[in-house]
Amino acid sequence: MSPHETLKKVFGFQGFRPNQEGIINNILAKRDIFAVMPTGGGKSLCYQLPAKIMEGTVVVFSPLISLMKDQVDGAREVGVSAAFINSSMTSQDMSDTYRKLRAGSLDLLYIAPERLAVSHFYDTLGSVEISAFAVDEAHCISEWGHDFRPDYLSLSTLITKFPNIPVAAFTATATEKVQRDIIDKLGLRNPYTIRASFNRQNLFYRVERKDNLESRILTFLRNHNNEQGIIYRTTRDSVVETAEFLADNGIKALPYHAGMTPVERKDNQEAFNRDEVTVIVATIAFGMGIDKSNIRFVVHMDLPKNPESFYQETGRAGRDGEPADCVLFFSRGDIPKIRFFIDQIQDDRERSVAVEKLNRMVRYASQNVCRRKQILEYFDEQYEKDNCDACDICTGSVEKTDITIDAQKLMSAISRTGQRFGAAHIADIVVGANTKRIRELGHDKVKTYGVGRDKPKTHWRFITDELLAQGLIVQNGDRYPVLQLTEKARNVLFKSHPVTALKRLEPERKKYGPSIGPGLSVDEALFERLRALRKELADKQQVPPYVVFSDKTLGEMCCYYPVTEPEMAKINGVGDMKLIHYGAEFIAAIKSYLGDNPHITVPDRNERDFSISVPPVKKKLKGDTYEATFELLKAGLSLKEIAERRKLVQTTIAGHIERLIMDGREIDIDLLVESDKRAQIEKLFTTLNTWNLTPVVENSNETITYDEARFVRGFMQREGKL
Ligand code: ADP
Ligand code: ZN
Repeated sequence: MSPHETLKKVFGFQGFRPNQEGIINNILAKRDIFAVMPTGGGKSLCYQLPAKIMEGTVVVFSPLISLMKDQVDGAREVGVSAAFINSSMTSQDMSDTYRKLRAGSLDLLYIAPERLAVSHFYDTLGSVEISAFAVDEAHCISEWGHDFRPDYLSLSTLITKFPNIPVAAFTATATEKVQRDIIDKLGLRNPYTIRASFNRQNLFYRVERKDNLESRILTFLRNHNNEQGIIYRTTRDSVVETAEFLADNGIKALPYHAGMTPVERKDNQEAFNRDEVTVIVATIAFGMGIDKSNIRFVVHMDLPKNPESFYQETGRAGRDGEPADCVLFFSRGDIPKIRFFIDQIQDDRERSVAVEKLNRMVRYASQNVCRRKQILEYFDEQYEKDNCDACDICTGSVEKTDITIDAQKLMSAISRTGQRFGAAHIADIVVGANTKRIRELGHDKVKTYGVGRDKPKTHWRFITDELLAQGLIVQNGDRYPVLQLTEKARNVLFKSHPVTALKRLEPERKKYGPSIGPGLSVDEALFERLRALRKELADKQQVPPYVVFSDKTLGEMCCYYPVTEPEMAKINGVGDMKLIHYGAEFIAAIKSYLGDNPHITVPDRNERDFSISVPPVKKKLKGDTYEATFELLKAGLSLKEIAERRKLVQTTIAGHIERLIMDGREIDIDLLVESDKRAQIEKLFTTLNTWNLTPVVENSNETITYDEARFVRGFMQREGKL
């Protein structure tokens, strides 16, 4: 079978992910491989697929014993004959596996590198037919990496001992320095090298203010009803507290931290892995060994201390390629806690590196710059697009507002009281609170007393945070921090230099679920039934549910209602083996559901293209903001003029216009995009078979702008062409 056929028939996938095909072809051609691909990029398929095609066994070195079983279960599910050898198994199981290996009946064998220290092991490997070696988590061989494992050094003799067998090394994290080190230590021979982008387009990044945290988190979880996710907290106490709070509110949540016994930890992790609880509340101790593909959100309730951890932790979301939500709740109050630990670091250089990393995290959370761009640039990757379409900044769910007047009011209160008071007291002065302290100090006589009583105190705390973030004021003093003005503040107070802030338009109401295609929706009631069936079948076989079918696969079933085997086989993720194993049961469940709900009309699958990629569901913009845009547009203002007038970025306005178009408003397309260009753009969307703006813009030889593509997309959707 060709790689393509194998992909479809065995794995049930419609197409390769980026880089997979090149890697696979090179493994088949017996060339060494070095590949850095992000989590969820589909590394396993790169060696599992050749294992199915090639004569002999592919031997995979993997450091995590806990993962081997799931990997092997997953491979067996699709009909790849797989096994593992590690120290956790009985001698009976081990000799069974050796027997299969010698008989040449294994496609795939997972082993932990420490096996190589067992003296006769090389002889065993030497006596069987091996088609290729795959080294998973290859960065573990490098002392420069963040996860060095001495066991991995024994892999450096692999190529000397087996010069005729190709070696493919994979990792999700390697700076260029670590990459050179890995290639060198393994002795790879002119390897086919892939450095894939670190961009995880299916992850939506956003930051929310960390106030009213409990109600915010409940709202968030309500919007992610029944979906699986991780909530990270920094301390054990807060983990326990949050888990209890969630449980009290009817959410199935369990804690995970290093202070629990290994058995408790394992039980809780298993429960999460098997979809028995929806949320795991954890310290950073949780993570290694999480291979679960259907994690729909990762929440950071406290500020992470550096971008590496943040990237790695958020990276656990959405491995199946479906949209997932990464939220950080940010408050400047978290900074001193992290600083406290950083200040304990003895080594000067190390300490200043830690401070810089923390600053990067703070900038990530507080600057008006695409979150994705900031992350990628941290990892030395240039991000060229000016709109990533999947972060709160780019999708315009934050808005720039002018806060100059309020800044002046607040800073004047600080100045007139001698820069000797804290944030709470200053806010009291501005709102004109009648407190004992204010009366005693005579602060009710200050000129700014009560100038901000038209706005709540929380607003003035928000302004305080903003001014701190922008370095207009600072907080000084350890035990009783007081607010003081910086040099920059003079420009605002005396020269009226403008101050702008980011303001959230409305709390996010994004619903993430399996997304299928424009105009098609997932039948949620059926999804619940199939989810239950999946769980039942998974339990029977003692595998995690996502090993049976991914969320995406279930989602497609809940959209196309396949009730025959050929229909079922067309669903993404249903290969031959899965069809045999589970087809009948899922078909029966769908039939019975349709029987109970005779009003449902089933879409005609044959007319649909299933490979269309769908952007995350966009948040509905608040009515009046896009009304305002509409008014200005009708008045004949250009995009740029509207943006200036409304103090919003141009892409936000373009987003409004697209929405207005989709909503069927009367908008003259001729004024937005000329007709020749329009035809060209429509053609690009259709031939590239995409929903995304980037490929269209990129394939136009720079003749089309993002905004133009966006408007045409709006019209195409309105007319049902997309
Ligand atoms: P990695 O090891 O790179 O983090 P995995 O190998 O675990 O990623 O793959 C992540 C998910 O993507 C898995 O659920 C896998 O089945 C799925 N996957 C891999 N390749 C494809 C593909 N070509 N099409 C669809 N899904 C894929
Ligand atoms: Zn962005």
